[in-house]
Amino acid sequence: MSAEVIDTNPYSRLMALQRMGIVSEYKKIREKSVAVVGVGGVGSVAAEMLTRCGIGRLQLYDFDTVELANMNRLFFRPEHAGMTKTDAAVRTLRDINPDVDYESYHMNITTVEGFHRFTESLKDPHTGASRVDLVLACVDNYEARMCINQACLEMRQTWMESGVSEDAVSGHIQTMTPGSSACFACVPPLVVASGIDEKTLKREGVCAASLPTTMGMVAGMLVQNALKHMLNFGDVAKYLGYSALKDYFPSMHVHANPECDNGACVRAQKDHREMLESPEWKAADA
Ligand code: ATP
Ligand code: ZN
Repeated sequence: MSAEVIDTNPYSRLMALQRMGIVSEYKKIREKSVAVVGVGGVGSVAAEMLTRCGIGRLQLYDFDTVELANMNRLFFRPEHAGMTKTDAAVRTLRDINPDVDYESYHMNITTVEGFHRFTESLKDPHTGASRVDLVLACVDNYEARMCINQACLEMRQTWMESGVSEDAVSGHIQTMTPGSSACFACVPPLVVASGIDEKTLKREGVCAASLPTTMGMVAGMLVQNALKHMLNFGDVAKYLGYSALKDYFPSMHVHANPECDNGACVRAQKDHREMLESPEWKAADA
């Protein structure tokens, strides 16, 4: 009778990606750091996926606490009710994978003090350069996205934006690389471009719809794109949409707007153009 060999190492299935030639060096994931801003329906699931993929460091940001009303989403459990989302997330994630270095930031990134703390936490204190490989925006409002946009433009840090529609049946992800692709201010959402105050859209007592399915899809698209970007395999989506009603996945490139209102974006665009014109770049590209 032959003894059954049970592989208990959680990393061996991930390392198979390397043996199959999909990813040249999967183990590099251990050296990567990701900031997840907003640990709600999309962010918590994205954080769990990165944890299970063996990321090196995860920095989590959220100002909210877990409520029983959040149970229609994935990840959080009733016993988390009342805890801060970041602490509840770290507690669960650490049980799943204790090898990840977790940082929990229970804070509002849009206040003056919060924005300062947010940007400092993303920087190496000695060099001032970014200490993360990617920032994932999983927030649900324009103001917070604009703060992430500003922090990332100033550090020239690539980030990925995500969103789920108010009716819960569509969503999108978008990669923002300062200078080479659109920033969040380059193409403002229609409500902002039309001068409508976002707060007036949120009617008292009328809550937005949410589906764990759509949020799970968007989190999966986001982390898949994050892995492709960090481990250098496949095509990194610039913009990928998801419409559940029509099973439609539009994909496009959103170009930087030379007339963007954001000065840091315009400066990054200029530096990017100069880099493309440099003899070093042309020689490397040839
Ligand atoms: P709902 O509003 O429907 O109850 P939610 O607040 O959990 O849901 P999600 O879309 O699931 O919203 O997640 C967005 C997350 O982003 C929330 O956890 C929210 O607390 C967080 N968030 C939004 N703005 C900020 C901010 N300025 N600073 C920190 N976290 C933020
Ligand atoms: Zn811009």
